Amino acid sequence: MQTNFSPEQLADPQVAESEKILRKCVHCGFCTATCPTYVLLGDELDSPRGRIYLIKDMLENGRAADAETVTHIDRCLSCLSCMTTCPSGVDYMHLVDHARVHIEKTYRRPLKDRFARSVIAATLPYPSRFRLALRTARLARPLAGLLKRVPWLRTFGIMLDLAPRAVPAASDGARAAVYAAKGTPRGRVALLAGCAQPVLRPEINEATIRLLTGQGVEVVVSAGEGCCGALVHHMGREEQALNAARRNVDIWLKAAEEDGLDAIVITASGCGTTIKDYGHMLRLDPAYAEKAAKVSALAKDITEYLAGLDLPEQGPRGMTVAYHSACSMQHGQKITLAPKQLLKRAGFAVREPAEGHLCCGSAGTYNILQPEISAKLKARKVRNIEATKPNVIATGNIGCITQIASGTNIPILHTVELLDWAYGGPKPAGL
Ligand code: SF4
Ligand code: SF4
Repeated sequence: MQTNFSPEQLADPQVAESEKILRKCVHCGFCTATCPTYVLLGDELDSPRGRIYLIKDMLENGRAADAETVTHIDRCLSCLSCMTTCPSGVDYMHLVDHARVHIEKTYRRPLKDRFARSVIAATLPYPSRFRLALRTARLARPLAGLLKRVPWLRTFGIMLDLAPRAVPAASDGARAAVYAAKGTPRGRVALLAGCAQPVLRPEINEATIRLLTGQGVEVVVSAGEGCCGALVHHMGREEQALNAARRNVDIWLKAAEEDGLDAIVITASGCGTTIKDYGHMLRLDPAYAEKAAKVSALAKDITEYLAGLDLPEQGPRGMTVAYHSACSMQHGQKITLAPKQLLKRAGFAVREPAEGHLCCGSAGTYNILQPEISAKLKARKVRNIEATKPNVIATGNIGCITQIASGTNIPILHTVELLDWAYGGPKPAGL
């Protein structure tokens, strides 16, 4: 694609990078067929190609974002399905990240939207605030219908609807500590505690620690680390995201310098995609560029790490698992085989639902901010999963777990919970 940026514009490294990305797009439109919003809405401006044109126009003309551009960029799930499909290697992820930051800086959203977004950004990434919000939501749920009818409060009504009916008690099963390896030592890893996941499903990191230590891997959960920054990163809140990244980089490099680390293990693929991108996110910060790149190089999804441990083959368990590959897993991190192979090796029969490339509609805060599109994607995903007639659904991202669980009665677990059970851990509570 031809571009017309001035030398002054290209002096900005963010613009220079986006220009390079734009030039790679040959407008072939292959990406439209696998874009969930184009598949649902059929509008070119809700396709990757249409969004690329909107972003080009906005950046090239150096203009503030307008309402139309914001509408179509906001509808993008950042699922990255378009990147898997694109034959020209267009780096849509970094282009839309830049567009979101530009929107945040130049567009004034209506006050009610700014208020709702600020509440989300100040609550979800902080476990104690998030837990309190979920407990309050349980009590306030009967008001959801009423709130949704008041434009100012609609987002809060949607949040009440989405809040899980039961909130687990705070667990210290994966608190900050060093968990000693059992048997012959095989490695040492840091585990991301994270923010929303330990509140919604503390058993995921507990199962991870049990499985890894049982296989001879020492696990460090470092005090002070927290949200990876993905939630606010996808809202264009750059400084908040970069500060979260800097905090985690400092903490993990300290742990690596003290006793060495083979990997930083992550059990939420949405967080994994972001942590693997820390090197890029902080590339313009001279104090952090190199350190962040080191952290990104150490980051591994739990299934990526387990695939290197050569876990023993187990006999059949007589249980069929529908494996839902999160977008951040298959498109963001390109991890497609490891989770299925690990499940099969552990004795589960694995089914792959149709349209596996399409997002379930969770996408960070998307199900709160774009509830109509999100609900349609959820219904489509659940239909495809239920058609495989599984006993259980497995996936590797907490967002997908909560989204899909709200649309089906089939139990849904993190892949690592099934693996932990197969290798000697307790039967997962959800089964
Ligand atoms: S598939 Fe790639 S090159 Fe083709 S229109 Fe989409 S982004 Fe551009
Ligand atoms: S990231 Fe997903 S929703 Fe956004 S343009 Fe690409 S395929 Fe479409």
